[in-house]
Amino acid sequence: MLYDVVVVGGGIAGLMAAIEARSSNNKVALITKGNLFKSNSSMASGGINAVLDYGDSDAIDKHIEDTLKGSYGLGDAKSIATLCKHAPRIIQKLSYYGVEFDRDKEGKIAQRSFGGGSSKRTCFIGDKTGSAITQALIKKAKSVGVTFLVNTFVMNLTYTGKRVSGVIALRRFDSSVVVYLAKAIILAGGGYAGIYRGYSTNSPDYSGDMHALALRAGLALQDMEFVQFHPTGFVKTSYLVSEAARGEGGYLINSEGDRFVDELGTRDVVSRAISKEMAEGKEVFIDLRHLSQEHIEQKLPSLYKSAYHQAGIDITKELLPIKPVAHYSMGGIQTTMTKTSLHGLFVCGECASNGVHGANRLGGNSLLEASVFGELAGIEARNFIRNKELMTIDYNQVIKEIELVDKIFDQETGKNFNAIRVSLGKMMFEKVGITRNEENLTDAFSYLKYLRSEVKSLHCVNKERTNNVELISILELRNALEVAEAVVLSAQKRTESRGAHYRSDYKDMRSDMAFPMVVTEFKPNFFRVGFEKNRFIDNLRKFIKG
Ligand SMILES: Cc1cc2nc3c(=O)[nH]c(=O)nc-3n(C[C@H](O)[C@H](O)[C@H](O)COP(=O)(O)OP(=O)(O)OC[C@H]3O[C@@H](n4cnc5c(N)ncnc54)[C@H](O)[C@@H]3O)c2cc1C
Repeated sequence: MLYDVVVVGGGIAGLMAAIEARSSNNKVALITKGNLFKSNSSMASGGINAVLDYGDSDAIDKHIEDTLKGSYGLGDAKSIATLCKHAPRIIQKLSYYGVEFDRDKEGKIAQRSFGGGSSKRTCFIGDKTGSAITQALIKKAKSVGVTFLVNTFVMNLTYTGKRVSGVIALRRFDSSVVVYLAKAIILAGGGYAGIYRGYSTNSPDYSGDMHALALRAGLALQDMEFVQFHPTGFVKTSYLVSEAARGEGGYLINSEGDRFVDELGTRDVVSRAISKEMAEGKEVFIDLRHLSQEHIEQKLPSLYKSAYHQAGIDITKELLPIKPVAHYSMGGIQTTMTKTSLHGLFVCGECASNGVHGANRLGGNSLLEASVFGELAGIEARNFIRNKELMTIDYNQVIKEIELVDKIFDQETGKNFNAIRVSLGKMMFEKVGITRNEENLTDAFSYLKYLRSEVKSLHCVNKERTNNVELISILELRNALEVAEAVVLSAQKRTESRGAHYRSDYKDMRSDMAFPMVVTEFKPNFFRVGFEKNRFIDNLRKFIKG
């Protein structure tokens, strides 16, 4: 199957990219591994950051400054300036595509506070911001003629020399391996916080497929140790209590009834404060009882319903127990804006590491990143394909994937993939979670080596090739283990505390470590990990001078 541009991912980044990449004389396909409405983007609730007035350069500078500050010295000034300067236009574009942002009494787009922001700049649609934007973009993408290839799991990239040539994918409905040839590929496949299964707001399928396939294609991963823990998930189900709940005035209190932290502080600070309370044996709750029922129903409708259905709690009258949960991965495939070291390959959204977030992310900045850099990736891909021919495919690469699928089907196993998946999540939360130290990281590394040897002998119990759920889960698990190892090795090497990476054995931030950490795979399953000392620094100097 031949396309001009193939986009992997149907979240906001992928949809924005596909819309921009499409023109009247090119063919654009967008691939998702599940259905089109299933993505972290469609679960995003709280909002999207933007200064709305183009002319208000002071307010835009403040957005840049907050984002740089939140990155703890690892932000790339150029990427951050691009993010914040394009924000007013992106909100207008989304409105034009049919997104109906909530309005204030004067009819202007309403804005709320979000953690780490120095002013109210988060635009929203109740607490359904992500799903409202996703739906509008799906409509727009359909109307411009993007082809959707759903239930298609991308396994690997194909490339010739330094030029990408297509993707190898597995069709869920018949487990066949197919190749999509394209002149340019855009990866927008989301993050890896789902490797913390059972302790994550992400759907478990967000466990780093893109990162693992990028490693296998010789690309570098960057900032992998930085995983953001959101302070407030439901204790039982890890369902996200959006920052909007605190933005609207919710308090955090412990079982002694005390408020113990500034609720609107950055997520790392608030998460650590909650874990400390919990380590002392106290429970932690979000208290919304002082807000009126009408206010809650209007501003936090999903939370109101979910608390009732999932935890049996009426938040207008009762305290809601919460715990911190893995939420967002700052690390990703190393990019310069959206470009990578493979020609024709562009990366955007949560799976990219372009220096927008550095060591931490401000709430509301990732939907903005997905929109701004998704749009840019689409433009870059459209420009790239001009006068380009399709490349040939190395069919040895395809045969390897067919053999892998056959092997997973054909042999027998006594092992259960789900048990391994669950124990990976628990181990990562306990040993590579909110607080890390050398002993735990060393244990984590040994355990991962053991799980990786176990996974080699995982096979499908159910041999039916139609809609086989096990097959994709096994492939995801292989990727998740590879990505987990990159996280652990990076966390080990960073012997300091910075942003979301907190080490109880190295509590201070070190000036000699103010550089991104980069992971590459030099032969299958062997990683090289180190600081990249020249990256971003010139940029930052220019920004500080200018
Ligand atoms: C519960 C929750 C609430 C959030 N709230 C906010 C918020 O209020 N504000 C904010 O700024 N951010 C928020 N975030 C973060 C934000 O939603 C994400 O960072 C952002 O949506 C990522 O968008 P994306 O397009 O990069 O990827 P995603 O939306 O994660 O989409 C990834 C896509 O890639 C596809 N894919 C993945 N792997 C494969 C594969 N192997 N083959 C084929 N397809 C594949 C998936 O099918 C999916 O379509 C929230 C996140 C969560 C989980």
